[in-house]
Amino acid sequence: MNIRTFSIGGIHPEENKLSHDIATVAAPLPKQAIFPLSQHIGAPAKAIVKKGDKVKVGTMIAEAGGFVSAPVYSSVSGTVFKIDSVIDATGYRKPVIIINVEGDEWEETIDRSDKLETLAAHPELTPEEIVERIKIAGVTGMGGAGFPTFIKLCPPPTAKAECVIINAVECEPYITADFRLMMEHSDEILVGLDLLMKAAKVEKGYIGIETNKPEAIELFERKTAGDSRIEIVPLKQRYPQGGEKQLVDAVTGRQVPAPPAIPVNVGAIVQNVGTAYAVYEAVMKHKPLFERYTTVTGKKLAKPGNFLVRMGTPMKELIDLCGGMPEGDNKLLAGGPMMGKALMNTEVPVCKGTNSVTVISGDEAKRKPAQPCIRCAKCVSVCPMGLEPFLLATLSAKKMFERAEQEEIVSCIECGSCQFTCPSHRPILDNVRYGKSTVMGIIRARNAKK
Ligand code: SF4
Ligand code: SF4
Repeated sequence: MNIRTFSIGGIHPEENKLSHDIATVAAPLPKQAIFPLSQHIGAPAKAIVKKGDKVKVGTMIAEAGGFVSAPVYSSVSGTVFKIDSVIDATGYRKPVIIINVEGDEWEETIDRSDKLETLAAHPELTPEEIVERIKIAGVTGMGGAGFPTFIKLCPPPTAKAECVIINAVECEPYITADFRLMMEHSDEILVGLDLLMKAAKVEKGYIGIETNKPEAIELFERKTAGDSRIEIVPLKQRYPQGGEKQLVDAVTGRQVPAPPAIPVNVGAIVQNVGTAYAVYEAVMKHKPLFERYTTVTGKKLAKPGNFLVRMGTPMKELIDLCGGMPEGDNKLLAGGPMMGKALMNTEVPVCKGTNSVTVISGDEAKRKPAQPCIRCAKCVSVCPMGLEPFLLATLSAKKMFERAEQEEIVSCIECGSCQFTCPSHRPILDNVRYGKSTVMGIIRARNAKK
């Protein structure tokens, strides 16, 4: 087996894939569903329903609010209770549509049959039609960042796509939602890849899977045997192997330059494996994106599991399915322990990018007191972007943003490898995140003036 990986940095956090072997079950419908209008990168969606309106499962409730935006669909049937604002997974108060759930009535346009539709059976689907269906269905990246998928399929004229890479790495500890999806819906994922390749007008597709998922590697190698267009790429278990730039490096050997360059500048379009599945459902089943695979996990949870969750479901209802919030202090994360966002309460709803709800015990979450930097350079050696984290953290803390920009702080992918490895327990990522967001604000303001 030819196992590949990225060129620089990386760490090996404990896996803790507690729910690896637990088959996915459909989570019960919530009593009330909460839909943030901003579940993606770009302009928030605009509500097109009002209090008292009746909706079905799959009814559009908010339209795209700009070019870089995505519509939001109801995952439940019922009555619009109110349009309000609540604290979402980002920790900020954001506008939401709240729907009281009544029954489970679906839009008639959605094909709910299990019949597998293939691209070969639908030669009438043009690249433009596929992109349009993905756009209308509100499909966004399902791996966390939430970039509208149709935009990635329409690269700028200066870039030419040569391949689609499916990101099936799932290198973040604890999370198993993508693995379960692969084991349970491999045929649909492969049709999704076919659709993405046709939409991007490329002849080559890769699926990158870490070697800690041998069952998935074997399954996809078997299903694609004889298809020279598709290559399954076993990847060394190494965090952050699933970072977009790290994946492109591992699979193609090409390095994506610093921002604003994106993977398609070196010929690659990267899509998460969950996105490939959502693309299949959007194009072949006329099903908008309103439910997703989510892992609910944590060492102290009585029954960690994988769930097919209607978006808008409050996380508390999922934690209750796993035996409830454990006794004592706990830290709740949307996502895994490396890149997840800490949440202030359990009422935060599952959104398009929620791959995991992770409960970390107080003891695990407790930080050791920060000590002075001993100039060991461990943070430098593990940084997958080739940065100098200790320097960026210091520049950010001292508000030396001009210098931080020169040192390419915007290239930081916020993987946390530096902080994880620091023997002095320095809050490197906290400072770098602050510096990066400030520098990005400065760059945006500068560009707006131009
Ligand atoms: S968080 Fe940023 S600075 Fe730290 S290791 Fe990751 S990419 Fe490098
Ligand atoms: S790993 Fe920590 S102690 Fe070592 S150089 Fe980086 S910040 Fe300093």
